[in-house]
Amino acid sequence: MSFSGDIKKEICSLNPENDCCIKAKCYGMMLFSAKFGADSILFKTEKKDVATHYFDLVKKVCDVELDIVPPEKERGMYLVCTNDAKKCKTILDVFGHSENQLHLRINRSNIENECCFGAFISGVFLSCGSISDPNKAYHGEFLVSKKHLANDLSAILGECISTPKATLRKSSNVLYYKESEKIEELLTLMNAVKSVFELMNVKIYKDMRNHINRTSNCITANISKTAESVRKQMDAISLIDEKIGLEALPSDLYDMAIVRRDNDFASLSELGRLMVPPLSRSGVNHRLNRIVEIAKGLE
Ligand SMILES: [Zn+2]
Repeated sequence: MSFSGDIKKEICSLNPENDCCIKAKCYGMMLFSAKFGADSILFKTEKKDVATHYFDLVKKVCDVELDIVPPEKERGMYLVCTNDAKKCKTILDVFGHSENQLHLRINRSNIENECCFGAFISGVFLSCGSISDPNKAYHGEFLVSKKHLANDLSAILGECISTPKATLRKSSNVLYYKESEKIEELLTLMNAVKSVFELMNVKIYKDMRNHINRTSNCITANISKTAESVRKQMDAISLIDEKIGLEALPSDLYDMAIVRRDNDFASLSELGRLMVPPLSRSGVNHRLNRIVEIAKGLE
């Protein structure tokens, strides 16, 4: 199952303790569903457990039984709905919505107490939310077709987490978060504890892998830098030997050239210890640079 699917399953398994929160969750699902009006109420979902959860909530909160229509095709949608005007009116009344509202807005009286916000958002998420697999990308979003509802939801998310970014996708409003911390806060707000842990595990694993990659890139870069300078020094020594003979070098550089030539895998510090008397790393570096300079003059 997808990461979103797992989250939705987890949210469906959570039954809020307080009646106010149960109502808020039901309201969140309903208000952001496909249809919420005087002549039709319609909730669409691919998931059977989400469909039955919605049915149960509406029955409990509004004392109305909706119809569940199973999908016709294998990958179709469950419809939980009614076209019965009386049932629609009962439901609208429960949530304090009038029959001929021009624009649907969030009626805050259904999110009565502090405890209700998380439940409400979890309901909205079941209706129109999704979170990408964190192994691929950090992305959590709500897809809202109605502009005013999107604005109201954005304000509530702003109060609970932080104002989400907003964009349009095929004339639908997308509210989204791209930061793993925000997605973590969203899951925490919805009380989806299992999914929070899942996200954190993936994050720790990814951070670790990035760290290892960075470190090994760094080591590889250093190795090739070192190999490159050893090659330069070796070329310089051969060139000097060929053109004027190593004996022509001042004695300190002559000793250095011989030790370098005979120890091509040795580091600067190791070369320093092979010198008589021993030489510091920077002393070795300085002499090798002089040798390279002399060779350049001979080219
Ligand atoms: Zn509550």
